Amino acid sequence: MAYFQSKPTAGRHFLQIPGPSNVPDRVLRAMDNPTMDHRGPDFGLMGKAVLEKVKAVFKTKSHVVIYPASGTGAWEAALVNTLSPGDRVLMCETGWFAHLWHEMATRLQIVPDYIRTDWRRGADVAAIEAKLREDKAHAIKAVCVVHNETSTGCTSRIDEVRKAMDAAGHPALLLVDTISSLGSIDYRHDEWGVDVTISGSQKGLMLPPGLSFNAVSAKALKATETAKLPRAFWDWKPMIASNATGYFPYTPATNMLYALDTALDMLLAEGLDNVFARHDRHAEATRRAVRHWGFEVQCADPRHYSSALTAVRLPEGHSANALRGTILEKFNMSLGNGLGQLNDRVFRIGHLGDFGDLQLVGTLGGVEMGLRAAGIPHKSGGAQAAMEYLSGNA
Ligand code: PLP
Repeated sequence: MAYFQSKPTAGRHFLQIPGPSNVPDRVLRAMDNPTMDHRGPDFGLMGKAVLEKVKAVFKTKSHVVIYPASGTGAWEAALVNTLSPGDRVLMCETGWFAHLWHEMATRLQIVPDYIRTDWRRGADVAAIEAKLREDKAHAIKAVCVVHNETSTGCTSRIDEVRKAMDAAGHPALLLVDTISSLGSIDYRHDEWGVDVTISGSQKGLMLPPGLSFNAVSAKALKATETAKLPRAFWDWKPMIASNATGYFPYTPATNMLYALDTALDMLLAEGLDNVFARHDRHAEATRRAVRHWGFEVQCADPRHYSSALTAVRLPEGHSANALRGTILEKFNMSLGNGLGQLNDRVFRIGHLGDFGDLQLVGTLGGVEMGLRAAGIPHKSGGAQAAMEYLSGNA
């Protein structure tokens, strides 16, 4: 029986929230190795290998800093290493996580300019370009975008954000949150000219929560020289200095690094393009099920569909939270709740990380049984529609 399970339930729990995702057994076994001396000679060998290997998933040749922290810590690290109190930044309110990042920036005495959306699409690239063109004095120091908005299932086009910044001829830094996209959706730190990529362990990287990341461009590193926000724990400088020999300035999360090493091996053995195609396919199968049931996906722009999760809108008068409760109670599956203004309006199906066709069919079957049990009117056969798509696109 799992820890803290309130009632005995046979069979494996389906953890289909959009992160933390399911951790592969191989990764769990890697964590089960004895903790080693983080100042001893072997640690440096492991540290160097992992720090090098992790660059592949960010598609960067630059530094990747690893923190023993959740993604929120890596948000803060990105801001405090590059900015000063009173600096203006451009942020895009694509959903709940963009909102939280905006709130953090404000608390750090950064001054965000905020581009709103209806939470049904990714960042508004034309609005970003227009704001940057208006800013002739280059007062805006950074553009901050959440790549995959986990609250809505909308993925912003970072390649287009880069093009918009270039078209405006604006020198702002580009900071991107890939906490729920890295290792699930195509992402290219170097090619897209991103200055800080923020990520976390518990989603596409298939690890438990507990590690977070900053991939840092040369331009971002240069910005630290003039950035005046106070920083100590999050300071890149001592990290990068210690990392050169595979060590960390404080006690690292040793067993999580074993896990990261193994998860990276798994992702790279599958091939990142295959990993992304697998996620695309599962997302499309899920959307087919949703439409068949007669519901809308939260993301209204097909160019912004997320391959990591699907947020499903229930018809007016039906409670997404009650549905999730029924599914957990009857079928032992956790689905994501609606966040902020979407609370009770949507539920979110996570289809990211270590995930195969049969798990998806089980997940959609569980949702469909839940809809019936909760008395929510729908057209049955959504899981079947997904199966037809999956078997035709094996
Ligand atoms: N950004 C995004 C896109 C997220 O999905 C999350 C968490 O789900 C966060 C930031 C916050 O990360 P954490 O909860 O690991 O601190």
